[in-house]
Formats: sequence, structure tokens, C-alpha cells
Amino acid sequence: MRIKTIMSLKPTVNPLRLLLAVCSIFLINICLSAAPCGCKDLPQLRERAQRANKAEEAWKEIFAWARGLHIDISPPDSNEALNARFGQLMSALPSKWDGIMHQPIDLSVVPKKIGGLTNNGEPIFDPEFEARNCDEIVQGVREHEETHKRFFFSHPGQVLTGDLLRVRAESEVESYRAEKEYLNRKVKDMADCDSCDGQWHGTITYTNIDNFTSKTTVSRPVASGNSSSSTLESTNTLNGIITKSTSNEWQANSSAVVTFVNNRSTSGQGYCHGGPGGPIGPLVPWTRNEVDITQGSGNSEGKVEAYIFLYKNNYQISVRPLTIRGGTLQYTTRYSLSGGCSPNKPPTSMSSSSNKGEWGTDKIVGKANYGADRDILSGSDTKVTSTPSGSTQLAPGETTTITNTRTITKTITWNLRRCH
Ligand SMILES: [Zn+2]
Repeated sequence: MRIKTIMSLKPTVNPLRLLLAVCSIFLINICLSAAPCGCKDLPQLRERAQRANKAEEAWKEIFAWARGLHIDISPPDSNEALNARFGQLMSALPSKWDGIMHQPIDLSVVPKKIGGLTNNGEPIFDPEFEARNCDEIVQGVREHEETHKRFFFSHPGQVLTGDLLRVRAESEVESYRAEKEYLNRKVKDMADCDSCDGQWHGTITYTNIDNFTSKTTVSRPVASGNSSSSTLESTNTLNGIITKSTSNEWQANSSAVVTFVNNRSTSGQGYCHGGPGGPIGPLVPWTRNEVDITQGSGNSEGKVEAYIFLYKNNYQISVRPLTIRGGTLQYTTRYSLSGGCSPNKPPTSMSSSSNKGEWGTDKIVGKANYGADRDILSGSDTKVTSTPSGSTQLAPGETTTITNTRTITKTITWNLRRCH
């Protein structure tokens, strides 16, 4: 059925005929085809909601005009004047509206009509608009038209009093509000669309703990020199959490804590001299201890690479942890000597610091089987690599034992999803 427009208004007009004149909505969308609105339609849906909001405000201005609230502007004399004014307001910023309301009407800017009501009061749409917009956008226009219908049927008295333009403007305010509220509800229902781009989103956390111990002992008979032992223990823990939410890049927040303790102890014994030319004193044992402690920590944030490999029966998550740069380092060296010939001195200590700590690790990979839903990946994988290496050397007159142990524990935990 054809959409009709009233060309002139008479006080005795049938309310239904007035309904036919009411709706003027620009044809602005470039959507694809008639189907339920999906995530890809969300920007258009938002735009329609914003537009309905602006239209509601524009019609409040026009309603004030039709009620004669502007004493310096002559009131509207036709529906076309209302439509043209609406077109002018919609193509301008609201800050310009007051100026526009004082300009003459330009009837050539009447916007294209995309919806209306049939003679029976049924909403109908421009077929092109209907074909090119997803269902909820079209439904928004249907809400608009049905609000007009309810409005006019509940205000028959006013229509018959002849105050038609005022009633029509008020009805547009109501109808655009209804359309706006409907579209806003749909936008809200699609809240999780913001991450629905077919890409994986979620969180991956990783931990790389690198423990190293090295123990060296050199034992010699007293007559052939000093014995020594040293123990080096270091722990390097790198933690990170990487996320991808709305952006398309994996963003890492990473921290590292590092400790390094190197204990060296040397012991021997010597004869104390009673000064130059003096007698040789007794044989006295001595022990020298030196401890180097390094403590470091740092944080970094930045983009990282993360890959999700989907295989037929399982999948793999791979991340390259963020290298932390500019971490703080505190160095302390304690030195003490006990025994020996001279009186014992108190232990000495030296400290220094820098901010040149840099810690990173190679990629961390986790593997798992799919769950019931292949668009939800959730799991954890830990790999421990241990490289013990013990060696004992026997040299004439001495025993040297070196034991190195390195354990690297890599843990990766992920919680990812994607939608289509
Ligand atoms: Zn309308």
C-alpha cells in the first residue's frame, strides 16, 4: 500500500489520515540485508539510537513552536512546514537550533519518508529501507509507527479540536522516544558484541621460574694450600598476564623478581709471625667469607605476540613473554674474616644499585584438548626442565666437586573465547 501524505490540514481531518502524514525518517543506513541484527550491525544500531535521540529533541523544539511558545516566530501552517523544519534541525548541530528556528522554512528539504501507516493503521516501510537494514532497526521504526497509532487513538478529542500540528509534533516526540528506547535496549542486549569480532579474546597468564644452584668445593690437605667452597643460588621469576579485550593486540603486564646469592668461603691456616725477624708463631686457622647478594625487580607493560594454533584434535597457545627493561638491581657484598693472626675486624659491607635490570625468556607454549565448545579455550600447562650436572674431579692432592642444578618451570594458563 502506498504511503500517503496530507497536503493540507483541515480541522475535520480523520485521525487515521493524519497518521499517514506523521513519519519522516531519513534513509541513511547502508546495511546489508534483512536479517536479525548481528554484531556487525551494532554500529548502525547505535547510530540509529543516537539519531532517534536527536530526533526526539528536535521534535521537542518543533512542539514548542507549534504550541506558540516562540512569540517572535509565526507558528507553523502545514505538516510540510513541520517536516522541513525537522529536516533542517536534523542536519544541524543542536547548538545551532535556536538560530534555525528563526529562519524561514525551506520546503525543498523535506526528508525522505521511510515508514508510515496504511489506511488501516498498519505500519509499512520503504521496501528499500526494510531490505537494507537488519531486523531490529526496522523494528525500531515499527515501534515508532505504533506509538503514533496509540497516541492518535488516545487523543481523538485533541485531533478534532483542530490543534493538529501541535498534536502531531507531540506525537513525534513520543514516537522517537519509543524508537530510541527500543534501540537502546537492543544495543544493551548486544553488550558482548564489542568483543565479538571472530578473534580470540581473554587472558593468558604465564610464569617462568628459573632456579639455578651451583656448589663447588675444593679440598686440599693443609700442607698444600687453602680449601674453599662456594654456593651460588639464583632464582629468577618472571610473571606476566596478557589480555586482549577490545583492541586487536595482546597487551602484557609483566613483572620479574630476581635474587642471586653467591656465598664463597675459603679457609686455611698459617703461621703467625712475631714481626720482622721475629719468631714464627703457632699455626692458626682462618676463614674468609664473602657473600654477594643481588636483588632485582621490575615491571613492564606493552604489546606482545600470542598465537593460538587450532589443530584437528588439540590446540596450542604460544606467547613470547614481554622482556622487562629498566628493572632495579640492588647489590650487596658482605665480607668477613675470622681467625688468623691479626685481631678480627668487624664484617664489612658494600652496596650499590642500578636500574639496568633486564629479564626475559623465550616463548612459553601450552597444549590442550578441546572442551565441548571449541570457541572456548581454557586450561593450564606446566613444563619443568631440569638439567642436573654433577662432576667430580680428582686431582693429585685435592678433591674438587662441582654440582650444578638448573630447573626451569614454565606455566601458562589461558582463558579465551571467541564469538562469530
Ligand atoms: Zn513519526
